[in-house]
Amino acid sequence: MRIHCPFCHGRAVVNSHPKPTGRMEELYCSCNNPACSARFVYRAYYSHILAPPLSTLTNSLHEQIAELPDDERRRLLQTYAADLPLFAQGK
Ligand SMILES: [Zn+2]
Repeated sequence: MRIHCPFCHGRAVVNSHPKPTGRMEELYCSCNNPACSARFVYRAYYSHILAPPLSTLTNSLHEQIAELPDDERRRLLQTYAADLPLFAQGK
């Protein structure tokens, strides 16, 4: 992540990055431009999700059905026998 000075728009460096609290982080920065030398704090906030953590993803429906005990799988598939006769014949 590149930080620019809000005053002279030169490049800045992050001097410290305290441990985040919650979903907000603060970056303590200083401007690299010797004629400016401003010091400032940037804040970064969590905004929204793009993809859930892998740990929250469940198996596909096919995998879940395949992992059921035989009697439970047959009973589940039998509930669809009227609408999907070929599907219900699966062992
Ligand atoms: Zn500056």
